[in-house]
Amino acid sequence: MNLTEMEIKDKPGDMKGLRCVACRAFYPLKLLYRCTACDGILEVERTEPVAGWRAGDFVCGDVTLGEGGTPLRPVSPSLLHPDFRGRLLIKDETRNPSGSFKDRLVAAALSRAIEFGARGIVSASSGNAGAAAACYAANAGIPAMICCPEATPHGKLAQIMAYGATLERVPGHYGNSFKRAMELSDERGYVNLTTTYLNPYGVDALRLVGQEIIASLDGIPPDWIAIPTSSGPLVKGVHQGFVDAAVPMPRLVAAQSDGCAPIARAFAMGLDIVEPWDTPKTIASGISDPLLGYPEEGSHTLSLIRQSGGQAVAVSDDDIKNAMLALARKAGLFSEPTGATSLAACRRLFTEGKVSTSDTVVCIVTGHGFKDFAAWTND
Ligand SMILES: [Zn+2]
Repeated sequence: MNLTEMEIKDKPGDMKGLRCVACRAFYPLKLLYRCTACDGILEVERTEPVAGWRAGDFVCGDVTLGEGGTPLRPVSPSLLHPDFRGRLLIKDETRNPSGSFKDRLVAAALSRAIEFGARGIVSASSGNAGAAAACYAANAGIPAMICCPEATPHGKLAQIMAYGATLERVPGHYGNSFKRAMELSDERGYVNLTTTYLNPYGVDALRLVGQEIIASLDGIPPDWIAIPTSSGPLVKGVHQGFVDAAVPMPRLVAAQSDGCAPIARAFAMGLDIVEPWDTPKTIASGISDPLLGYPEEGSHTLSLIRQSGGQAVAVSDDDIKNAMLALARKAGLFSEPTGATSLAACRRLFTEGKVSTSDTVVCIVTGHGFKDFAAWTND
């Protein structure tokens, strides 16, 4: 049976269907990764805005492991800059069960996969999504195959293997792993949980990140929210959370590394179309996706950044290391390089005069430092 034709039997919650963000085509709830009319990104359309939900509300049965509901905690403004007098808050996504925000996405996508009668799941991953998929699949008793670039940090690979998933290390950059996961999904009939925009049910759950931030701030939006950004589902999630809550949209910041910055490059050039990056090279392994084969995902993220009046920023590996050190030594937060790009980006925006001295700034820290010891121990 063709899994993509299998429709959900019991409609979960108030999901109405899938909508193409490009041509607006509508599909009933089923396993579908792309618009069949134009190959555009699909998003879950709901009958009404999600309000007052918790992360567990996006999953069915016992798939949840307690993901989400992470703290938004104030840290010293001096982490941003000695002259910064506003509020700096960290949304600490390292607290999720496998140590990254990917748990939110995987919990929801796996829940739907089980409804589709999945015999197994497959995911391409720079490490964190694979660890999350392996973790949740283990708990659900479902086989998982994870495709990672060869250069993936050992901590992430160890996690994937510890949870008992089948790991395939794919030569080259993330794009090759993405292709390999697509092949495996087709060959085996496994549901693809890859955490780009590919699985709309996973991306849908990220709207809660925005909602949690609003709730933590008693309904008063911050001025800025900085987000480590690869293809950008987390940008979409935060954006959607503010749309749901019907409060003013903060300026969203896509934080990228200057060794792989397709969205920041297009932003700096004033373009609306994101082109793939040639050769990713950065210590921030979680955001080293060149968007090869699906640059329209970057364009969609860029459009959300622009709608918010925000910024897309590329920071150097040295900036990222300095931000990692500041988080660890001044805030007691052990982050992997990718997680610290949000703080590094806001530091840049302050020195450029874009972030004002009295602003409220939220930096999302996406992944735990345990995942990438080499980033801390090598030079
Ligand atoms: Zn379409």
